[in-house]
Amino acid sequence: MDVSIVIPLFNEEESLPELSAWIKRVVDEHQLSYEVIMIDDGSTDDSWKVVNQLSANNSHIKGIRFQRNYGKSAALNEGFKAAQGDVIITMDADMQDSPDEIPELRRMVLEGGYDLVSGWKKKRYDNTFTKNLPSKLFNAAARSMSKIKLNDFNCGLKAYKKKVVKSIEVYGEMHRYVPVLAKWAGFRNIGEKVVEHRARKYGVTKFGWSRFINGFLDLLTIFFVGKFGKRPMHFFGLWGTLFFTLGLALFSYLTVSKFFFDVTGMTQRPLFFFALMIMIIGTQLFLAGFLGELITRNAPERNHYLIEEKLGL
Ligand code: UDP
Ligand code: MG
Repeated sequence: MDVSIVIPLFNEEESLPELSAWIKRVVDEHQLSYEVIMIDDGSTDDSWKVVNQLSANNSHIKGIRFQRNYGKSAALNEGFKAAQGDVIITMDADMQDSPDEIPELRRMVLEGGYDLVSGWKKKRYDNTFTKNLPSKLFNAAARSMSKIKLNDFNCGLKAYKKKVVKSIEVYGEMHRYVPVLAKWAGFRNIGEKVVEHRARKYGVTKFGWSRFINGFLDLLTIFFVGKFGKRPMHFFGLWGTLFFTLGLALFSYLTVSKFFFDVTGMTQRPLFFFALMIMIIGTQLFLAGFLGELITRNAPERNHYLIEEKLGL
């Protein structure tokens, strides 16, 4: 199969018929064999009914329905598991992404040598203050933390080699960082293509203000898990030991001055409390690191490596 189109959707009943007709027009014109996987992320409107009708009229259209709303990441993850095409393309259901981009994205993955090609909404039709500015900040932070040179991490329109989507796991709110997940899995050829962006035609955005907080926290998670996920002691142990040692040194100084130089009123001194505090914090950090280390040692994934190729085995 040439291409799988994975579409997460949450209350998008009005868009689906138009979107699927457009996709069909494009893939037929380019004579691609295809499947469309629509993942209904617990919609409360008639989206699932619409998916059923579309699927009844076109056997290339497949559907997965969640029992409740799990989020875009979960929807993508299930879509990735089910996808069978050589190239997998994700797009939003709200028709902000244009299906006309499908053939070129596919060509870039197959012939351009890219593992992943991410869309770039260079000209964006969203609200400037709630979307465009925050997303500039977000992208700058993601770029500097991940060292991936993308202008637009969060674009819903992306194309992947089959191998990539079968190697990564998207969960939580990680759909914003799929390129980072791909890079961790060892897929370094990440490209970008300027794509046409359109204003939302039907319905409303599904991400409110919580996107800023969650997006930022996920960025920290990505950073920490990536750097110290498999070796927590190197972070917590280091700072724990430093804090503890500094506290101990301060206490030694206080002790010496009390017993050898008859300085009194130790517990009146800020330094005393400071030393006490950092020794306790140091111990806590060390313990956190140690517990983290024990947990990673027992994690079932601890020896999970992606093997590129095998010879003679
Ligand atoms: N979506 C989803 N589950 C959710 C939230 C959103 O599957 O919990 C889908 C939504 O239906 C759309 C895509 O994710 O197809 C992008 O959402 P939206 O257009 O609301 O985001 P925006 O373009 O405003 O960033
Ligand atoms: Mg949208």
